[in-house]
Amino acid sequence: MMTSIAISQVKQRFLLSLMLTVFLCCGDSDSSEVMLKSEPPLVTDHNREYTYSIRSVSDSNSELVVIEKQIPSWLSFDPESNILSGTAGWPNVNESFPVKLDLQQGDLSSELSYSIVVELGEIVCDQEFGNPEDSPYVLPYTLGETYTFGQVYCSENPAWGHHNWFAYDIDMGNGTIVLASREGEIIATKEDQPNIGGDCSGGKENFVFILHDDGTVMSYVHFTTDGVLVETGDRVVQGQEIGLSGNSGCSSGPHTHVALFKDRTNFDRQSTIPFNYSNADGPLDMNQGLVLMENYTAR
Ligand SMILES: [Zn+2]
Repeated sequence: MMTSIAISQVKQRFLLSLMLTVFLCCGDSDSSEVMLKSEPPLVTDHNREYTYSIRSVSDSNSELVVIEKQIPSWLSFDPESNILSGTAGWPNVNESFPVKLDLQQGDLSSELSYSIVVELGEIVCDQEFGNPEDSPYVLPYTLGETYTFGQVYCSENPAWGHHNWFAYDIDMGNGTIVLASREGEIIATKEDQPNIGGDCSGGKENFVFILHDDGTVMSYVHFTTDGVLVETGDRVVQGQEIGLSGNSGCSSGPHTHVALFKDRTNFDRQSTIPFNYSNADGPLDMNQGLVLMENYTAR
């Protein structure tokens, strides 16, 4: 029967055609269909481009035309190249999107119908962070102070640390004043957890989350017990004192973990985005990110 991969409703159709063959024998039900060269990918990462090139392997010399299409808004279709492409992005993670295309090639016709599941993808670490002078963020500590960045973004070990995170760990010790890197609204705080470190059971960190006017959110984590100096709903300006550094929750020593999230819909590590500081006196890497174990003075 089908030597190439058929299109519409791939699996169900195949099964149906198999049943017809078994019960009715010798039906040539697919002879009038456009035959496709490859199956469409059914899963895509939220942050990578989905592409599917629709190509026929039938004997027809006629042009393959998409007569009718139903595709998700994040996909586009180029009729010149017969390529579907697009990046799902947020907030389409864990959603399923139907795709339906009516195809015609000479006398042949068919319907291509399937669903694309969008999964949470790994972040792309090799990104340009932008000129630090244009960064809207300042280091979260007092001018003139110097601290070591004990961990930076995108560590390689998937089992530990900042794998899949655009985040920094700043070794600020216990009880150091933490400042808002950018003005915004306090949307979440926690300060009732013990300042003992080493508890990775989840939810044991004291923190402050600040929503910026462009929709991004900065988290400041591991504050000491009762070490939050602001309240949810407060409006803070850049450089305002928001808390005291510490060692609460999943932490191997007193530090402040800072991460920047694309928006407030999702605080998974994969939804973090790269950032640097406008006032960090110290070396930057090729992407203009801050460097592991280097010292940075707030100037
Ligand atoms: Zn961290």
